[in-house]
Amino acid sequence: MTKQDLSSTIDNVVIRRRPTTRKSGHISHPDSTGGEAITRDIPCYSLKQGNSISITFEIDDLDAVEDDLVGFGGWFYTSDSEGLDISTLNVGKSRGIRINGGDWHAFGSLELKTYENYFNISNPVFTFTATKDIEIAFYLLDCGIVEHEYMTQALDVKPVLLNNMYTFAPEANFVKHQGKVLMNNEALLSKELKAPLLLKSCNRCARFLPINIPNERHSLSFSNHCIKNAPCVHHGFGVLKDVNTQERLDLHHGFQLECRFCKKFAVNAALNPQRNANQMKEDGARRRGFEVLLQNVFNGSPQLAYRAKNNNKELTSEVWNKFERKCFKCNCALPTMNKMHLDHTRPLALLWQLDETATCLCGSCNSQKRDRSPADFYTVDELAELSRITGIPLHDLQNSPVNVRAVEEIIKRMEWLMMDFCEEQRLNQIRDGKNTAELFLKALQKVFNQTQYGKDYDLIDIYRTYRGFKK
Ligand SMILES: [Zn+2]
Ligand SMILES: [Zn+2]
Ligand SMILES: [Zn+2]
Repeated sequence: MTKQDLSSTIDNVVIRRRPTTRKSGHISHPDSTGGEAITRDIPCYSLKQGNSISITFEIDDLDAVEDDLVGFGGWFYTSDSEGLDISTLNVGKSRGIRINGGDWHAFGSLELKTYENYFNISNPVFTFTATKDIEIAFYLLDCGIVEHEYMTQALDVKPVLLNNMYTFAPEANFVKHQGKVLMNNEALLSKELKAPLLLKSCNRCARFLPINIPNERHSLSFSNHCIKNAPCVHHGFGVLKDVNTQERLDLHHGFQLECRFCKKFAVNAALNPQRNANQMKEDGARRRGFEVLLQNVFNGSPQLAYRAKNNNKELTSEVWNKFERKCFKCNCALPTMNKMHLDHTRPLALLWQLDETATCLCGSCNSQKRDRSPADFYTVDELAELSRITGIPLHDLQNSPVNVRAVEEIIKRMEWLMMDFCEEQRLNQIRDGKNTAELFLKALQKVFNQTQYGKDYDLIDIYRTYRGFKK
């Protein structure tokens, strides 16, 4: 149908309400680094001046109760900065919309139903009216009761974190019980007009979420990476790779690797100190396991020779002095050595040992950093300074590679790892019905999978074979 054909049918458009056809949800990428992109062509609705499309999110009969999160919304595109008027009904607090022609926009809300407001839910409606001829398109319209472990946990330990969730719609709308999305005027859908949509991966939740190119500053689900320091030349942040065409996409400001939702809950570590006792025990066991494994593996290597020559106290005082006896992150003075917390700089979780490249932090900065990669925790300027002080190449601080040498060394000692190490480290126990050696190997496998060498090894399979659990 051409544009002309369409306009001639507009008078005959039957206003009807029925659920729009919805895809199962977000596309995701199994080993997302945050640097993958996908492009899509989304069919447009052709709106003549005076036409409108109403979207009703039917959530009233979902039986939401107090403490349920109820969300609705999606993304829309408009061809023009002017010519579109959006009115709402029953919407309450919702994400702000600044219309810009040629861009995609996020709209919707996510709110906790409290005692005051849960018993009186009405269906929110967004009406998009054309004040001149325009094209608009929609992506992933959804609504319902939302559930996600981060938010469930937040409700338990820090409910204040949920106060501004409406600004995280629609990317935080992990809908568990789906409501209906009703749209009128679906006959305005053009068979020919398409709006290009660019999606970028999140390295935590692995979902592909919309970004705007070239108007990167109109950020949607990802914050920008370099604002004053643009152009962003950081791999993964400022350069994306289209997973279908392998084409390279150079950005100006770039985007964070994590979506805003993951940044809020997983990266900014709001919830981390609240991890439960069992998780802490498991974290602790894994950390200890990695430490001891690395010590064994690098036995006799230059790294260990350093440690043998310089005992721990010397290492500590060397780092303390190198950082001028101040916390590198917040600059607070650390007048005595025992006020200092040595941080691995490069994460232990990626098999980097504590050595002379450690960072001097205060207790509170150290507990905020935990297992986060340097690029997650430090600003661009701080990374450059940290590279200068520690001698770690800036590239490594920006990208947090796995310690490939450690992986190689572990592979050389596979039999020792399976038969001796897993035995000696008292990893051969059953806890909560799980074999602790297998839990440890599973954590190690995750690291292996990020490397060319390591990903061919199936550690649990090897372990079971060595142990005679299978022939
Ligand atoms: Zn995410
Ligand atoms: Zn950047
Ligand atoms: Zn500090």
